[in-house]
Amino acid sequence: MNKNKREKEFYSIDVGDSTFTVLRRYQNLRPIGSGAQGIVCSAYDQNLERNVAIKKLSRPFQNQTHAKRAYRELVLMKCVNHKNIIGLLHVFTPQKTLEDFQDVYLVMELMDANLCQVIQMELDHERLSYLLYQMLCGIKHLHAAGIIHRDLKPSNIVVKSDCTLKILDFGLARTAATGLLMTPYVVTRYYRAPEVILGMGYQANDIDQWNKVIEQLGTPTQEFLMKLNQSVRTYVENRPRYAGYSFEKLFPDVLFPADSEHNKLKASQARDLLSKMLVIDASKRISVDEALKHPYINVWYDPAEVEAPPPKFTDKQLEEREHTVDEWKDLIYKEVYDWEECTKNGVIRGQPPPLAQVQQ
Ligand code: AMP
Repeated sequence: MNKNKREKEFYSIDVGDSTFTVLRRYQNLRPIGSGAQGIVCSAYDQNLERNVAIKKLSRPFQNQTHAKRAYRELVLMKCVNHKNIIGLLHVFTPQKTLEDFQDVYLVMELMDANLCQVIQMELDHERLSYLLYQMLCGIKHLHAAGIIHRDLKPSNIVVKSDCTLKILDFGLARTAATGLLMTPYVVTRYYRAPEVILGMGYQANDIDQWNKVIEQLGTPTQEFLMKLNQSVRTYVENRPRYAGYSFEKLFPDVLFPADSEHNKLKASQARDLLSKMLVIDASKRISVDEALKHPYINVWYDPAEVEAPPPKFTDKQLEEREHTVDEWKDLIYKEVYDWEECTKNGVIRGQPPPLAQVQQ
């Protein structure tokens, strides 16, 4: 395509502190959120005649952390196709050459709110259990492909007003299996699993967080301690001893809708599930498969959603890699152009080509 024609396809608009340079088909841009990688806008897609979300990744190759996040996100979002994982509709860059390459825009299905907003609301058991069921379906699908998300938290989970739910963001996901302790990636505080906290070394924050876990759940058993390496075990052994609280104390009825016999039963099922999830020893914790069969959740069980075939990765793109800024720039640029090639003729991932094209 000639340079002028390509330039005319784009326009720029200021959104907060950032400028979005997007294809003309995307109109009415409005900021709806921001994350570690940049700003997210809602927009109207004139081609698809639907609202979409557009995330701008500014110079995603600028350093290792940004580059790995952006690259994984692109590769994973392209391969994963499940109703509880956010779907990618389009990827583009307004720059025309590798030398000029700066920004990547990811166009996704638009959802209504993230879970930070939803957890402020008073939800009934039907909605609570349905939201949890969908999270588990999404996580199971990722696990089936060997992907561990590692940064699941309310701001990475989005919902629509019809209570459908999708997981966002694959930034910290990686394919490799891990041992008992996870490598010390930066995972948002408060949502870290115990094995992540213990794998992190002993900065003041982590000590505080481990203390909070054992204050509530009690000092872990000797059996658990024996699985830790010497230095972590010494640290854990030297913490004050706590008996912990029962789950009835930690999650009393007043925290759940428990106004009728039915709701009382549901509250006790929810508490039972929490007691099986909030277990320090990961090997004793309920698995995703078991959680899907738990009475609180299994009312929603649909094999088509739970047992969807896992996404396939055709190459080794997702292994941990080290690259220079220029190599990352090249790799990310290729991924963006690969997407443009795949969708050039209006084909949308997971959907048949438009009728007009089939008839040609
Ligand atoms: P992220 O940078 O992907 O972590 O997104 C930051 C925030 O933007 C999220 O917490 C959501 O509030 C919002 N957001 C991101 N993607 C979408 C989407 N597809 N639909 C609705 N809101 C979104």
